[in-house]
Amino acid sequence: MAKETDPSCKKCRRERRKLFLKGQRCYSVKCGIERRPYPPGIHGRGRVRESEYLLQLREKQKARRFYGVLERQFRHYYDEATRKKGITGENLLFFLERRLDNIVYRSGMAASRAQARQLVNHGHFRVNGRKMSIPSYRVRKGDVIELREKSRNLVVIRHALDTNPPPPEWLRVTQSASQVEVLDLPTREQVDVPVQEQLIVELYSK
Ligand code: SF4
Repeated sequence: MAKETDPSCKKCRRERRKLFLKGQRCYSVKCGIERRPYPPGIHGRGRVRESEYLLQLREKQKARRFYGVLERQFRHYYDEATRKKGITGENLLFFLERRLDNIVYRSGMAASRAQARQLVNHGHFRVNGRKMSIPSYRVRKGDVIELREKSRNLVVIRHALDTNPPPPEWLRVTQSASQVEVLDLPTREQVDVPVQEQLIVELYSK
């Protein structure tokens, strides 16, 4: 399985903003962008020539990195979003938001999306009673995601539940925080990732 191997903090520094890829560390003084608030590389502190293309590219990279999705898969999401009824940019965000690893993160069971992805990969969850280890699995309204019994006392999950913010309105965490129910699909206002999706659409439609 292909995966991005760039250090997480480097990605934030490239985007010039916190992407919260490392859990609690992102809120501490050890955060890479707090310590070195400029892009990586020997030209990092040099002058950047702004352009429309650069703006669009950075927005796309930012969205991709927030959700931990590789370019090819991101492009698939975009293509699918163009085929679906509605606003393409919003459709794209909804597809990303409905990924199983994102649901695990948003429900508070993981400190970051990367950790959520690993937990799903390692088979700690069931969806509607069936084991599911595919992080990109797209949840639907009414789905019930459940922590497997043997995983309920995992320290990383308990710690994340104690420290993460409460889940969004469209998710309900029940039964001693071991079950998540998808009450509804998210609206644009409920997607809290600071991305201007229109710029991504402009980039891909060139
Ligand atoms: Fe980004 Fe977190 Fe690293 Fe800070 S600590 S630079 S927010 S990944």
